[in-house]
Amino acid sequence: MIRRESNLNLVYAKVFLGEEGLDKSWQKEFTPETKCVHCNSDARIAFVNHEKDENRFIADLHSNEEESMWPHDATAVAVYFCKSCLKPTALFNQG
Ligand SMILES: [Zn+2]
Repeated sequence: MIRRESNLNLVYAKVFLGEEGLDKSWQKEFTPETKCVHCNSDARIAFVNHEKDENRFIADLHSNEEESMWPHDATAVAVYFCKSCLKPTALFNQG
């Protein structure tokens, strides 16, 4: 039997469903729709993952080196699903 540690009490970010997340950005507000990166159709907002500023960050996961870019600060990640192909497109910004 595999015992798994629970991380339920660790909160690194908040998820906001749909348009409730449009203003949960570190910069300009996210838009309700964007272009799908896979087929260029319209993709609709699904959720925004907004990192809290007092915990661990995605930025801590990898180094940000000369030819290997990575976020350097708290991120807000908006995930959209395409109306035509249903594949996800993500936009993000950082504090
Ligand atoms: Zn698409």
